[in-house]
Amino acid sequence: MPITNKTAVVTGAGRGIGKAIVLALAQEGYNAVVADLNQEDVGKVAEELKSGGVKALAVKCDVSKKAEVENLFSETAKEFGRIDVLVNNAGIFPFVPFEKMQESDWDKVIDVNLKSVFICSQEALKIMPEGGRIINVSSIASFIGFEGLVHYCASKSGINGIIRALALELAPKKITVNGVAPGAINTPGAKSTEEARKQTIAAIPLARMGEPEDIANAVIFLASDKSSYITGQTIVVDGGWTSR
Ligand code: NAP
Repeated sequence: MPITNKTAVVTGAGRGIGKAIVLALAQEGYNAVVADLNQEDVGKVAEELKSGGVKALAVKCDVSKKAEVENLFSETAKEFGRIDVLVNNAGIFPFVPFEKMQESDWDKVIDVNLKSVFICSQEALKIMPEGGRIINVSSIASFIGFEGLVHYCASKSGINGIIRALALELAPKKITVNGVAPGAINTPGAKSTEEARKQTIAAIPLARMGEPEDIANAVIFLASDKSSYITGQTIVVDGGWTSR
């Protein structure tokens, strides 16, 4: 564990990709703040980390609610004093055909996936020193379309826009802003039928679904000193799917 006294906050860290990211950052030596909608899940992940000797804090937080996000970062400040890495990972992907999509469906996806990146990044910056990192979990759906996910594709494309623009504003503070765009990753939220899974794998040149750790590995690189000259970028981690 080479890094000491640095703190990482990961949203949606109770399961799936977010959990893999927070475990990997803790393995690198970061103090870990585990934030998620689900109190039981954050508690379990934080206990797992603490039993491995990591300084961990569990905070229940709906990332679409400003007051809860303010609480997340004030709890982080109280416990650790600062935040070095923010990973905006929480996201939802409910399939709804466009012609049946309600305003409430649209608002929910945009609030959880996109507005959250605005609120969480703004609050984190209050306690992020020079050299910090903002890393956003985007999606290949920000580059290509998926039926039934118009709202989701819009939210993830919006994240890529935030990444480019915020990178410019934060460059003078040597804070980098980047993203990772996963392809099809094995997570509880992305369950599908065996048939759909086979079809997906057939479209992936590396011939397998991604694992949450594949995304965590890219996040670890973007959090590290080895990526200090990279900002404003979204790295695709999809087994070659979108290279076809
Ligand atoms: P997941 O298994 O559903 O996990 C997402 C986590 O985020 C859950 O613990 C969920 O809590 C939490 N969450 C949902 N809404 C939240 C909110 N308002 N505030 C705080 N936490 C919230 O999903 P995943 O597959 O790991 O996805 C993680 C990220 O990767 C998302 O941004 C997603 O868009 C992106 N992504 C995933 C894939 C994929 O194939 N899996 C592909 C591309 C991009 P609950 O359990 O309580 O709902």
